[in-house]
Amino acid sequence: MNKPFSIVSMQIDELKPSRGYERLVRCRDTTTGLDALISIHSTKFGPAAGGCRMWAYTRLEDAIYDVERLSRGMTYKNAAADLPLGGGKSVIIGDPDKIKTPALMRAFGQFIEHFNGTYYTAEDVGISPNDMAHAAEMTRYVAGLETGEFASGDPSPVTARGVYLCLKKTAEVRLGVNNLSGMRIAVQGLGNVGMALAEMLHNEGAVLTVSDINKDRLTEARSRFGAAEVGLNDIYDADVDIFAPCALGGVLTPDVISRLRARVVAGAANNQLSTPDCGQLLQQEGILYAPDYIVNGGGIVNVAVEILGKTDPEWGERRILGLVDTLNTVLTRAAQTGTPTNIVADALIDEKLERANG
Ligand code: NAD
Repeated sequence: MNKPFSIVSMQIDELKPSRGYERLVRCRDTTTGLDALISIHSTKFGPAAGGCRMWAYTRLEDAIYDVERLSRGMTYKNAAADLPLGGGKSVIIGDPDKIKTPALMRAFGQFIEHFNGTYYTAEDVGISPNDMAHAAEMTRYVAGLETGEFASGDPSPVTARGVYLCLKKTAEVRLGVNNLSGMRIAVQGLGNVGMALAEMLHNEGAVLTVSDINKDRLTEARSRFGAAEVGLNDIYDADVDIFAPCALGGVLTPDVISRLRARVVAGAANNQLSTPDCGQLLQQEGILYAPDYIVNGGGIVNVAVEILGKTDPEWGERRILGLVDTLNTVLTRAAQTGTPTNIVADALIDEKLERANG
Protein backbone atom coordinates (compact mmCIF):
# COMPACT_ATOMS: atom_id res chain seq x y z
CA MET A 1 0.00 0.00 0.00
CA ASN A 2 1.37 3.43 -0.96
CA LYS A 3 1.37 6.45 1.29
CA PRO A 4 -1.65 8.65 0.57
CA PHE A 5 -0.91 11.14 -2.17
CA SER A 6 -1.83 14.82 -1.94
CA ILE A 7 -5.17 15.37 -0.26
CA VAL A 8 -5.13 19.15 -0.68
CA SER A 9 -7.80 19.04 -3.40
CA MET A 10 -10.07 16.65 -1.48
CA GLN A 11 -13.07 17.80 0.50
CA ILE A 12 -14.91 15.40 2.81
CA ASP A 13 -18.30 16.44 4.25
CA GLU A 14 -20.49 14.66 6.78
CA LEU A 15 -24.09 14.90 5.51
CA LYS A 16 -27.23 14.19 7.52
CA PRO A 17 -28.18 10.55 6.98
CA SER A 18 -31.81 9.39 6.82
CA ARG A 19 -33.42 8.18 10.03
CA GLY A 20 -32.11 4.81 11.15
CA TYR A 21 -28.75 5.23 9.37
CA GLU A 22 -25.43 5.87 11.10
CA ARG A 23 -23.54 8.04 8.60
CA LEU A 24 -23.66 9.62 5.15
CA VAL A 25 -20.41 11.14 3.87
CA ARG A 26 -19.58 12.89 0.60
CA CYS A 27 -16.12 13.24 -0.89
CA ARG A 28 -15.21 15.59 -3.74
CA ASP A 29 -11.79 15.83 -5.29
CA THR A 30 -11.20 18.53 -7.86
CA THR A 31 -7.95 17.02 -9.17
CA THR A 32 -9.38 13.65 -10.21
CA GLY A 33 -13.07 14.59 -10.57
CA LEU A 34 -14.11 12.15 -7.83
CA ASP A 35 -17.56 12.81 -6.41
CA ALA A 36 -18.52 9.92 -4.14
CA LEU A 37 -20.87 9.06 -1.28
CA ILE A 38 -20.53 6.45 1.43
CA SER A 39 -23.56 5.43 3.47
CA ILE A 40 -23.15 3.43 6.66
CA HIS A 41 -26.48 1.94 7.62
CA SER A 42 -25.34 -0.15 10.57
CA THR A 43 -22.17 -1.32 12.28
CA LYS A 44 -24.09 -3.25 14.97
CA PHE A 45 -22.74 -6.61 13.83
CA GLY A 46 -19.28 -5.44 12.73
CA PRO A 47 -17.65 -3.13 10.20
CA ALA A 48 -20.02 -2.16 7.39
CA ALA A 49 -19.41 -4.00 4.12
CA GLY A 50 -20.94 -3.40 0.72
CA GLY A 51 -19.76 -2.74 -2.80
CA CYS A 52 -19.10 0.44 -4.74
CA ARG A 53 -21.36 1.32 -7.66
CA MET A 54 -20.37 3.86 -10.33
CA TRP A 55 -23.30 5.41 -12.14
CA ALA A 56 -24.06 8.66 -14.01
CA TYR A 57 -26.65 9.96 -11.52
CA THR A 58 -28.06 13.24 -12.79
CA ARG A 59 -29.08 14.53 -9.36
CA LEU A 60 -27.33 14.27 -5.99
CA GLU A 61 -30.66 13.24 -4.40
CA ASP A 62 -30.83 10.19 -6.70
CA ALA A 63 -27.33 9.13 -5.69
CA ILE A 64 -28.18 9.57 -1.99
CA TYR A 65 -31.41 7.61 -2.38
CA ASP A 66 -29.58 4.76 -4.12
CA VAL A 67 -26.61 4.59 -1.75
CA GLU A 68 -28.86 4.54 1.34
CA ARG A 69 -31.26 1.97 -0.14
CA LEU A 70 -28.35 -0.32 -1.08
CA SER A 71 -26.56 0.26 2.23
CA ARG A 72 -29.59 -0.85 4.25
CA GLY A 73 -29.95 -3.86 1.96
CA MET A 74 -26.40 -4.89 2.85
CA THR A 75 -27.23 -4.87 6.59
CA TYR A 76 -30.00 -7.37 5.87
CA LYS A 77 -27.92 -9.48 3.48
CA ASN A 78 -24.92 -9.67 5.83
CA ALA A 79 -27.10 -10.43 8.84
CA ALA A 80 -29.02 -13.13 6.93
CA ALA A 81 -25.69 -14.83 6.21
CA ASP A 82 -24.79 -14.51 9.91
CA LEU A 83 -21.62 -12.59 9.09
CA PRO A 84 -19.89 -10.35 11.66
CA LEU A 85 -20.36 -7.43 9.27
CA GLY A 86 -22.71 -4.46 9.13
CA GLY A 87 -24.26 -2.74 6.13
CA GLY A 88 -22.75 0.00 3.99
CA LYS A 89 -22.42 1.01 0.38
CA SER A 90 -20.63 3.56 -1.75
CA VAL A 91 -21.44 5.24 -5.04
CA ILE A 92 -19.19 7.20 -7.35
CA ILE A 93 -21.14 9.76 -9.35
CA GLY A 94 -20.25 9.79 -13.07
CA ASP A 95 -20.16 7.74 -16.24
CA PRO A 96 -17.51 5.04 -15.74
CA ASP A 97 -16.68 5.04 -19.45
CA LYS A 98 -15.98 8.76 -19.40
CA ILE A 99 -14.41 9.79 -16.11
CA LYS A 100 -13.03 6.67 -14.43
CA THR A 101 -9.22 6.74 -14.18
CA PRO A 102 -6.66 5.00 -11.95
CA ALA A 103 -6.12 8.37 -10.20
CA LEU A 104 -9.84 8.71 -9.48
CA MET A 105 -9.90 5.18 -8.02
CA ARG A 106 -6.86 5.99 -5.88
CA ALA A 107 -8.65 9.09 -4.58
CA PHE A 108 -11.64 6.87 -3.82
CA GLY A 109 -9.26 4.56 -1.91
CA GLN A 110 -8.25 7.52 0.23
CA PHE A 111 -11.90 8.24 0.93
CA ILE A 112 -12.34 4.63 2.12
CA GLU A 113 -9.26 5.02 4.32
CA HIS A 114 -10.98 8.01 5.98
CA PHE A 115 -13.38 5.48 7.60
CA ASN A 116 -10.55 3.71 9.47
CA GLY A 117 -11.86 0.21 8.81
CA THR A 118 -15.49 0.86 9.72
CA TYR A 119 -16.38 0.40 6.03
CA TYR A 120 -15.10 -2.19 3.54
CA THR A 121 -15.86 -1.98 -0.16
CA ALA A 122 -15.73 -4.27 -3.20
CA GLU A 123 -16.80 -4.01 -6.82
CA ASP A 124 -20.38 -3.56 -7.97
CA VAL A 125 -21.97 -2.19 -11.17
CA GLY A 126 -19.46 -0.05 -13.13
CA ILE A 127 -16.42 -1.10 -11.07
CA SER A 128 -14.01 -3.92 -11.97
CA PRO A 129 -11.49 -5.87 -9.86
CA ASN A 130 -8.79 -3.87 -11.68
CA ASP A 131 -10.38 -0.59 -10.52
CA MET A 132 -10.44 -1.91 -6.97
CA ALA A 133 -6.75 -2.79 -7.26
CA HIS A 134 -6.08 0.96 -7.81
CA ALA A 135 -8.18 1.86 -4.75
CA ALA A 136 -6.27 -0.79 -2.78
CA GLU A 137 -3.04 1.15 -3.39
CA MET A 138 -4.39 3.65 -0.84
CA THR A 139 -6.31 1.51 1.61
CA ARG A 140 -6.46 -2.03 2.87
CA TYR A 141 -10.23 -1.90 3.38
CA VAL A 142 -11.02 -3.23 -0.08
CA ALA A 143 -12.12 -6.74 -1.09
CA GLY A 144 -12.95 -8.49 -4.35
CA LEU A 145 -9.32 -8.43 -5.44
CA GLU A 146 -7.81 -10.95 -7.84
CA THR A 147 -4.38 -11.08 -6.23
CA GLY A 148 -3.06 -10.98 -2.66
CA GLU A 149 -3.03 -13.26 0.34
CA PHE A 150 -6.80 -13.46 0.85
CA ALA A 151 -7.97 -12.49 -2.67
CA SER A 152 -11.36 -14.11 -3.14
CA GLY A 153 -11.75 -13.63 -6.90
CA ASP A 154 -15.03 -14.23 -8.71
CA PRO A 155 -17.80 -14.90 -6.14
CA SER A 156 -20.21 -16.40 -8.70
CA PRO A 157 -19.50 -20.12 -8.11
CA VAL A 158 -20.09 -19.65 -4.37
CA THR A 159 -23.24 -17.63 -5.06
CA ALA A 160 -24.50 -20.35 -7.38
CA ARG A 161 -23.95 -23.02 -4.73
CA GLY A 162 -25.99 -21.03 -2.20
CA VAL A 163 -28.77 -20.51 -4.76
CA TYR A 164 -28.80 -24.21 -5.58
CA LEU A 165 -29.10 -25.28 -1.93
CA CYS A 166 -31.77 -22.67 -1.16
CA LEU A 167 -33.75 -23.59 -4.27
CA LYS A 168 -33.68 -27.24 -3.16
CA LYS A 169 -34.89 -26.33 0.32
CA THR A 170 -37.77 -24.25 -1.09
CA ALA A 171 -38.75 -27.08 -3.47
CA GLU A 172 -38.71 -29.51 -0.54
CA VAL A 173 -41.04 -27.28 1.51
CA ARG A 174 -43.46 -26.34 -1.29
CA LEU A 175 -43.34 -29.38 -3.58
CA GLY A 176 -42.42 -32.11 -1.10
CA VAL A 177 -39.41 -33.32 -3.10
CA ASN A 178 -35.95 -33.97 -1.69
CA ASN A 179 -34.17 -34.12 -5.00
CA LEU A 180 -34.58 -32.24 -8.23
CA SER A 181 -34.58 -35.16 -10.62
CA GLY A 182 -37.30 -34.61 -13.22
CA MET A 183 -38.17 -31.15 -11.81
CA ARG A 184 -38.91 -28.64 -14.57
CA ILE A 185 -36.91 -25.49 -13.84
CA ALA A 186 -36.78 -22.19 -15.74
CA VAL A 187 -33.49 -20.29 -15.40
CA GLN A 188 -33.67 -16.65 -16.51
CA GLY A 189 -30.17 -15.39 -17.34
CA LEU A 190 -27.20 -17.65 -18.01
CA GLY A 191 -24.46 -15.37 -16.75
CA ASN A 192 -21.76 -16.21 -14.24
CA VAL A 193 -24.27 -17.40 -11.64
CA GLY A 194 -27.08 -18.66 -13.89
CA MET A 195 -24.84 -20.95 -15.96
CA ALA A 196 -23.17 -22.45 -12.88
CA LEU A 197 -26.60 -23.00 -11.32
CA ALA A 198 -27.93 -24.59 -14.51
CA GLU A 199 -25.02 -27.03 -14.43
CA MET A 200 -25.80 -28.10 -10.85
CA LEU A 201 -29.51 -28.48 -11.62
CA HIS A 202 -28.76 -30.49 -14.76
CA ASN A 203 -26.36 -32.74 -12.85
CA GLU A 204 -29.22 -33.58 -10.49
CA GLY A 205 -31.53 -34.51 -13.36
CA ALA A 206 -33.63 -31.34 -13.64
CA VAL A 207 -35.24 -30.49 -16.99
CA LEU A 208 -34.22 -26.95 -17.92
CA THR A 209 -35.91 -24.12 -19.80
CA VAL A 210 -33.69 -21.05 -20.24
CA SER A 211 -33.67 -17.50 -21.57
CA ASP A 212 -30.90 -14.97 -22.17
CA ILE A 213 -30.24 -12.02 -24.46
CA ASN A 214 -26.89 -13.60 -25.28
CA LYS A 215 -27.24 -16.23 -28.03
CA ASP A 216 -23.88 -17.87 -27.26
CA ARG A 217 -24.99 -18.55 -23.72
CA LEU A 218 -28.19 -20.17 -24.99
CA THR A 219 -26.23 -22.36 -27.39
CA GLU A 220 -23.94 -23.43 -24.57
CA ALA A 221 -26.86 -24.37 -22.29
CA ARG A 222 -28.54 -26.30 -25.08
CA SER A 223 -25.44 -28.33 -25.90
CA ARG A 224 -24.24 -28.92 -22.33
CA PHE A 225 -27.57 -29.45 -20.53
CA GLY A 226 -30.10 -30.14 -23.31
CA ALA A 227 -31.90 -26.99 -22.13
CA ALA A 228 -34.93 -25.73 -24.08
CA GLU A 229 -34.67 -22.04 -24.91
CA VAL A 230 -37.59 -19.63 -24.84
CA GLY A 231 -38.00 -15.92 -25.67
CA LEU A 232 -37.15 -13.26 -23.10
CA ASN A 233 -40.78 -12.56 -22.30
CA ASP A 234 -41.98 -16.17 -22.69
CA ILE A 235 -39.98 -17.54 -19.77
CA TYR A 236 -42.72 -16.32 -17.40
CA ASP A 237 -45.34 -18.51 -19.11
CA ALA A 238 -43.17 -21.65 -19.19
CA ASP A 239 -44.85 -24.76 -17.85
CA VAL A 240 -42.34 -25.40 -15.05
CA ASP A 241 -42.26 -26.23 -11.34
CA ILE A 242 -39.58 -23.72 -10.35
CA PHE A 243 -38.57 -20.28 -11.64
CA ALA A 244 -34.99 -19.10 -10.97
CA PRO A 245 -34.49 -15.40 -11.83
CA CYS A 246 -30.74 -14.93 -12.38
CA ALA A 247 -30.61 -11.86 -14.61
CA LEU A 248 -32.17 -8.56 -13.55
CA GLY A 249 -33.86 -7.07 -10.50
CA GLY A 250 -37.53 -6.06 -10.40
CA VAL A 251 -38.77 -8.96 -12.55
CA LEU A 252 -41.56 -10.03 -10.16
CA THR A 253 -44.26 -7.55 -11.16
CA PRO A 254 -48.02 -8.15 -10.63
CA ASP A 255 -48.34 -9.06 -14.34
CA VAL A 256 -45.46 -11.57 -14.24
CA ILE A 257 -46.75 -13.12 -11.00
CA SER A 258 -50.18 -13.68 -12.55
CA ARG A 259 -48.54 -15.51 -15.46
CA LEU A 260 -46.12 -17.76 -13.54
CA ARG A 261 -46.97 -21.45 -13.55
CA ALA A 262 -44.07 -22.30 -11.23
CA ARG A 263 -44.91 -22.96 -7.56
CA VAL A 264 -41.43 -21.97 -6.36
CA VAL A 265 -39.35 -18.84 -7.08
CA ALA A 266 -35.70 -18.97 -6.01
CA GLY A 267 -32.87 -17.28 -7.87
CA ALA A 268 -29.74 -15.14 -7.72
CA ALA A 269 -30.98 -11.75 -8.94
CA ASN A 270 -30.97 -8.87 -6.45
CA ASN A 271 -34.23 -7.06 -5.58
CA GLN A 272 -36.51 -9.45 -7.48
CA LEU A 273 -39.79 -8.03 -6.11
CA SER A 274 -40.79 -4.93 -8.10
CA THR A 275 -42.48 -3.68 -4.91
CA PRO A 276 -42.67 -5.29 -1.43
CA ASP A 277 -46.42 -5.93 -1.99
CA CYS A 278 -45.51 -8.45 -4.66
CA GLY A 279 -44.47 -10.81 -1.84
CA GLN A 280 -48.13 -10.99 -0.85
CA LEU A 281 -49.26 -11.48 -4.46
CA LEU A 282 -46.90 -14.45 -4.78
CA GLN A 283 -48.31 -15.92 -1.58
CA GLN A 284 -51.89 -15.44 -2.82
CA GLU A 285 -50.99 -17.31 -6.02
CA GLY A 286 -49.63 -20.22 -3.96
CA ILE A 287 -46.07 -19.53 -5.10
CA LEU A 288 -43.39 -19.96 -2.44
CA TYR A 289 -40.85 -17.15 -2.80
CA ALA A 290 -37.36 -17.62 -1.35
CA PRO A 291 -36.22 -14.07 -0.37
CA ASP A 292 -33.44 -13.00 -2.72
CA TYR A 293 -31.02 -11.56 -0.20
CA ILE A 294 -30.90 -14.88 1.66
CA VAL A 295 -30.66 -17.00 -1.50
CA ASN A 296 -27.84 -14.98 -3.10
CA GLY A 297 -25.83 -14.43 0.11
CA GLY A 298 -23.01 -16.65 -1.17
CA GLY A 299 -21.50 -13.64 -2.95
CA ILE A 300 -21.02 -11.71 0.27
CA VAL A 301 -19.84 -14.84 2.08
CA ASN A 302 -17.07 -15.11 -0.51
CA VAL A 303 -16.10 -11.46 0.03
CA ALA A 304 -16.26 -11.92 3.82
CA VAL A 305 -13.61 -14.65 3.63
CA GLU A 306 -11.33 -11.96 2.18
CA ILE A 307 -12.35 -9.16 4.57
CA LEU A 308 -12.09 -11.30 7.68
CA GLY A 309 -8.93 -13.10 6.46
CA LYS A 310 -10.43 -16.55 7.06
CA THR A 311 -7.97 -19.36 6.44
CA ASP A 312 -10.23 -22.28 7.41
CA PRO A 313 -11.47 -23.62 4.03
CA GLU A 314 -14.68 -24.90 5.67
CA TRP A 315 -15.66 -21.48 7.08
CA GLY A 316 -17.32 -20.30 3.86
CA GLU A 317 -19.16 -23.58 3.35
CA ARG A 318 -20.56 -23.42 6.90
CA ARG A 319 -21.88 -19.92 6.18
CA ILE A 320 -23.50 -21.18 2.95
CA LEU A 321 -25.23 -23.95 4.88
CA GLY A 322 -26.24 -21.24 7.37
CA LEU A 323 -28.10 -19.46 4.54
CA VAL A 324 -30.24 -22.57 4.13
CA ASP A 325 -30.92 -22.61 7.90
CA THR A 326 -31.98 -18.95 7.81
CA LEU A 327 -34.22 -19.66 4.83
CA ASN A 328 -35.73 -22.66 6.59
CA THR A 329 -36.58 -20.50 9.63
CA VAL A 330 -38.24 -17.96 7.33
CA LEU A 331 -40.25 -20.56 5.42
CA THR A 332 -41.37 -22.26 8.64
CA ARG A 333 -42.48 -18.99 10.25
CA ALA A 334 -44.23 -17.92 7.04
CA ALA A 335 -46.18 -21.19 6.97
CA GLN A 336 -47.07 -20.94 10.68
CA THR A 337 -48.24 -17.32 10.53
CA GLY A 338 -49.55 -17.07 6.96
CA THR A 339 -47.23 -14.10 6.38
CA PRO A 340 -45.43 -13.50 3.05
CA THR A 341 -41.83 -14.73 3.14
CA ASN A 342 -40.29 -11.35 2.32
CA ILE A 343 -42.02 -9.79 5.33
CA VAL A 344 -40.94 -12.66 7.61
CA ALA A 345 -37.32 -12.37 6.41
CA ASP A 346 -37.16 -8.62 7.10
CA ALA A 347 -38.77 -9.11 10.52
CA LEU A 348 -36.23 -11.80 11.41
CA ILE A 349 -33.34 -9.42 10.69
CA ASP A 350 -35.09 -6.54 12.48
CA GLU A 351 -35.34 -8.73 15.58
CA LYS A 352 -31.65 -9.53 15.31
CA LEU A 353 -30.82 -5.82 15.06
CA GLU A 354 -33.01 -5.04 18.05
CA ARG A 355 -31.25 -7.72 20.10
CA ALA A 356 -27.89 -6.23 19.07
CA ASN A 357 -29.12 -2.80 20.20
CA GLY A 358 -29.65 -4.36 23.64
P1 NAD B 1 -23.99 -11.68 -15.28
O1 NAD B 1 -23.93 -10.29 -15.81
O2 NAD B 1 -22.80 -12.57 -15.40
O3 NAD B 1 -25.23 -12.47 -15.95
C1 NAD B 1 -26.46 -11.91 -16.23
C2 NAD B 1 -27.01 -12.66 -17.43
O4 NAD B 1 -28.35 -12.25 -17.65
C3 NAD B 1 -26.22 -12.37 -18.72
O5 NAD B 1 -25.92 -13.59 -19.39
C4 NAD B 1 -27.20 -11.50 -19.52
O6 NAD B 1 -27.04 -11.66 -20.92
C5 NAD B 1 -28.52 -12.05 -19.05
N1 NAD B 1 -29.66 -11.15 -19.23
C6 NAD B 1 -29.69 -9.79 -19.22
N2 NAD B 1 -30.95 -9.35 -19.43
C7 NAD B 1 -31.73 -10.46 -19.57
C8 NAD B 1 -33.11 -10.66 -19.79
N3 NAD B 1 -33.96 -9.64 -19.92
N4 NAD B 1 -33.57 -11.93 -19.86
C9 NAD B 1 -32.72 -12.99 -19.74
N5 NAD B 1 -31.40 -12.85 -19.54
C10 NAD B 1 -30.91 -11.60 -19.45
O7 NAD B 1 -24.44 -11.54 -13.76
P2 NAD B 1 -24.26 -12.61 -12.59
O8 NAD B 1 -22.99 -12.32 -11.89
O9 NAD B 1 -24.53 -13.97 -13.12
O10 NAD B 1 -25.44 -12.17 -11.61
C11 NAD B 1 -26.78 -12.47 -11.94
C12 NAD B 1 -27.70 -11.78 -10.94
O11 NAD B 1 -27.38 -12.22 -9.63
C13 NAD B 1 -27.58 -10.25 -10.90
O12 NAD B 1 -28.84 -9.71 -10.60
C14 NAD B 1 -26.63 -10.01 -9.76
O13 NAD B 1 -26.83 -8.73 -9.18
C15 NAD B 1 -27.05 -11.10 -8.80
N6 NAD B 1 -25.99 -11.51 -7.86
C16 NAD B 1 -24.82 -11.99 -8.35
C17 NAD B 1 -23.82 -12.38 -7.45
C18 NAD B 1 -22.50 -12.93 -7.94
O14 NAD B 1 -21.77 -13.52 -7.13
N7 NAD B 1 -22.16 -12.80 -9.22
C19 NAD B 1 -24.05 -12.30 -6.07
C20 NAD B 1 -25.27 -11.83 -5.61
C21 NAD B 1 -26.24 -11.44 -6.53
